[in-house]
Amino acid sequence: KVVLFWLRRDLRLDDNAGLYHALKNHPQVLPLFIFDSEILEKLEDSKDARVSFIYQTVIDLKSELQEKDSDLIIRHGKPLEVFHKLAKQFEIEAIYTNNDYEPYARKRDAMVEAWAQKQGVEFKSFKDQCLFEKEEILTEAGKPYTVYTPYKNKVLKTLNAFYLKSYPTKKYFKSFLKVQAEKAPTLQELGFEKTDIELPSSKISTKTLENYAQNRDYPAISNGTTRIGMHLRFGTVSVRALARLGQKHSAVWLSELIWRDFFMQILWHFPHVEKASFRPEYDKIAWRNSKSDFKKWSEGRTGVPLVDAGMRELNATGFMHNRVRMVVASYLCKNLLIYWYEGERYFAKKLLDYDLAANNGNWQWAAGSGCDAAPYFRIFNPETQAKKFDSEQKYIKKWVPEFESEDYPEAMIDPQESRGRCLAAYHKALKK
Ligand code: FAD
Repeated sequence: KVVLFWLRRDLRLDDNAGLYHALKNHPQVLPLFIFDSEILEKLEDSKDARVSFIYQTVIDLKSELQEKDSDLIIRHGKPLEVFHKLAKQFEIEAIYTNNDYEPYARKRDAMVEAWAQKQGVEFKSFKDQCLFEKEEILTEAGKPYTVYTPYKNKVLKTLNAFYLKSYPTKKYFKSFLKVQAEKAPTLQELGFEKTDIELPSSKISTKTLENYAQNRDYPAISNGTTRIGMHLRFGTVSVRALARLGQKHSAVWLSELIWRDFFMQILWHFPHVEKASFRPEYDKIAWRNSKSDFKKWSEGRTGVPLVDAGMRELNATGFMHNRVRMVVASYLCKNLLIYWYEGERYFAKKLLDYDLAANNGNWQWAAGSGCDAAPYFRIFNPETQAKKFDSEQKYIKKWVPEFESEDYPEAMIDPQESRGRCLAAYHKALKK
């Protein structure tokens, strides 16, 4: 009999909640990773850096487990079909995993759980990827929070050593099933190639955290923020360990991890936000949705240096600095009057740290359509932003070296005119 531990967004053995419970409760635990064909089929780029990252991480975990005479079994397909087949190969006693809050993942897990129950296989899932989940943080009236600051205050009041404790998984490593190792599929067999993009390290320097509050808004400072997003996305680091670092070195940085939790609970309680505005009246705005404007924006050819720098950084590296993300998002939704979902989808394709809850929450924040959003009449002025946060134009020069030359295009639209156009469109849709 085996207990399968199904790894997804928690690609580590240490301090892993679900794995800890599996190993502690059962003597024969076999880890499993499924390359979900439903997800992979949607990816357009065969060199998608996220797939390379997951692949390498999974292969590393596999060798780590082989050193313990166990294995990580790797499958490729639709999860439910994979489990059907696994049930023929193994006598499965239980499936353990960690919670995932995205709408697709919830449906997938519900299907696997229903199937498991029919087979008499126990299905157990745990909180691992966030500090607080589901109904853990509610208002006095028992409702989910939709405004960040009171949510954060409640989190800070609740967050104690209990919630931040590591799960001592290592203590139970002897419970991994001893098996003959299987051969892993190659990346090519999965339909992908190795990325050319440099992947970020999971190390965080305490200096970055100590200077975070002063440095975080300046995109030219390369270590002004931690670049840990991708590791949090795939669980190669433990959020509990990071929150402890935040408590020790930077309250401001800790509050960013709380933003992450905040948007996760928004997506959990209001799953409609995935494809529609949190505030439905924003879907009545007469968006222009010009395809050629969108193309210029996505390629970094708007003629607005900070916007173009951000988009080019994204296209080249899979990363964009947070301050610039806010500027390019505001420019797309407000100046170009393009529906936020278009921008959200573009970021989803490109960002290494892409996370549905955070991306959606921040895009809706920028459009004004989300919970606790910037008021719609606050439209970022990219020039003022550049003067304030890139005063020596270091960031702009790095990504748009031609910006002061004749080769650089005029701004694609007049900022004042597009501002007026935006206010009129928003006002028309939102007036009572
Ligand atoms: P740090 O500044 O070092 O912060 C540490 C971690 O805190 C981040 O890695 C992230 O997990 C979390 N965090 C920080 N800011 C936010 C925030 N505003 N909302 C939620 N979590 C936050 N973040 C993502 O993780 N995935 C996304 O897909 C994403 N899309 C975004 C889209 C737009 C339009 C905007 C304005 C922001 C988006 N963010 C997203 C938030 C933020 O820009 C990134 O988390 C941050 O830039 C990542 O860099 P870092 O790891 O150096 O972050």
